[in-house]
Amino acid sequence: MFLKKKDRKRPMRIGILGGGLTGLTVAFCLRQKASQRFEVEVLEKDSECGGLLKSLVKEGFTFDYGGAHIIYSKDKNSIQFMLDLLRGNYFRKRRNNKIYFKGRLVKYPFENGLADLPKQDNFECLFSYLNNHHPRKPTNFKEWIYSTFGKGIAEKYLIPYNEKVWNYPTERMSLHWVEGRVPKPPVEDVIKSALGIPTEGYTHQLYFYYPRKGGIQALIKGMEEKIPEVVRNFEVKKIKKEKQGWVVSNGKITKRYDFLVSTIPIFDLISALDRVPHRVGHALRGLRYNSLITVMLGLEGDDLPNFTAIYFPNSEVKFNRIAFPWVFSGYNTPPGKSSLVAEITTRENDPLWRTDDKKIVQEVTGDLYRRKLIDKKSICFAEVRRSKYAYIIYDQDYLKNIKTIRNFVRNLGIWLCGRFSEFEYLNMDACVQRGIDLAKKIEGSSIMKSFSLKPKKG
Ligand SMILES: Cc1cc2nc3c(=O)[nH]c(=O)nc-3n(C[C@H](O)[C@H](O)[C@H](O)COP(=O)(O)OP(=O)(O)OC[C@H]3O[C@@H](n4cnc5c(N)ncnc54)[C@H](O)[C@@H]3O)c2cc1C
Repeated sequence: MFLKKKDRKRPMRIGILGGGLTGLTVAFCLRQKASQRFEVEVLEKDSECGGLLKSLVKEGFTFDYGGAHIIYSKDKNSIQFMLDLLRGNYFRKRRNNKIYFKGRLVKYPFENGLADLPKQDNFECLFSYLNNHHPRKPTNFKEWIYSTFGKGIAEKYLIPYNEKVWNYPTERMSLHWVEGRVPKPPVEDVIKSALGIPTEGYTHQLYFYYPRKGGIQALIKGMEEKIPEVVRNFEVKKIKKEKQGWVVSNGKITKRYDFLVSTIPIFDLISALDRVPHRVGHALRGLRYNSLITVMLGLEGDDLPNFTAIYFPNSEVKFNRIAFPWVFSGYNTPPGKSSLVAEITTRENDPLWRTDDKKIVQEVTGDLYRRKLIDKKSICFAEVRRSKYAYIIYDQDYLKNIKTIRNFVRNLGIWLCGRFSEFEYLNMDACVQRGIDLAKKIEGSSIMKSFSLKPKKG
């Protein structure tokens, strides 16, 4: 992909496919630093940018309808980047999550809340944690849970909860992502937890940030206003490589770029390309993901306990988590009201995906009511939203499949960046970090010399 000599004087045109957090981060960084060298354009299929970070603002309520989102990270730079975008429009909050277990609310994470369990369950968890000897190395996620936490914690919480949120058998899930992602508690903490001495787990998430106004989409708005070159309602349907770059079309309008960065789901990217080898199509069909239904409820009265979220490992309840936007920010609800969002993991081929919204609301409110978590009569607002791409499932063939696909796309010269584009379990901090890193790479001097930059391996 070399430009003719005369063309090298003009700015390089970079097309960024997708206007979610990742796409906007790349555009924002490129624009800030090198606007005279680059022309950046973002193509977004929806009428609004944000992807999973969109917020619904209606009747005085604000909900994040791609699921409850909070800003946290082990990486200080990513946090700072996000807070800078919010320009003071944020609160710092302390987590107050619970797990619903046998009608009780147990402190989160489970292994730090053992004293809240019935005594027999507490004993079984502690005993099997301390007497947990596994002769061979775990080969899948389920074995890893058993070997790290013991039978009690594994069977009472971690396995049922994970199978619910991933909607997939844990013995068929790979292990490569687990280390560092699912923290292992120190033995002292588990003993203290069983005795009722307070300890905290997942400490990088104990304090978090959340926008005061506008929901999590405020992050997106903070960037969007500085990137005028966003084309909304442009669904990328066809991508063609030409001698001097790329032609991208939505079926009506055609755009030309020297380079492409794709942050759209890998499925959409591949289906827009010509001549995809059979092995790539096969690998693509092997990738697994989950969709999400969110049920957003506004409630009369503000006497709900001030929990940030409650997790539900039990399979009788459809949702895996409820979160409380009114606790994240008082501006998320009108005065004297409160709110919650129930998250249900599902798939497009599950009948639930096509179930009528009213029925889904009835089921969710019924489940909450029966568990005395809300008063049914207090509901004053209810809406349902669906997100097709929500969770990546790391099954046992994931690494093999994703390698085939990434090699193919890399050889074409397209850069992949973002959660469903790289098809990796990336949270906002990682999306931001990858977006910043990619912008730096693109800015790098080599690109200006030849315009022949290609994504490198790794
Ligand atoms: C339930 C849930 C809770 C989460 N909670 C947290 C949290 O608390 N903290 C955290 O850090 N992270 C959280 N995350 C992760 C976070 O949502 C993602 O890391 C982030 O939103 C991914 O951004 P993205 O831009 O890579 O992808 P997306 O948000 O998926 O953006 C992709 C964009 O591409 C557009 N697009 C798709 N197809 C096309 C096409 N053909 N043409 C043009 N445009 C297209 C889409 O409309 C979208 O705007 C959560 C995720 C989920 C599912």
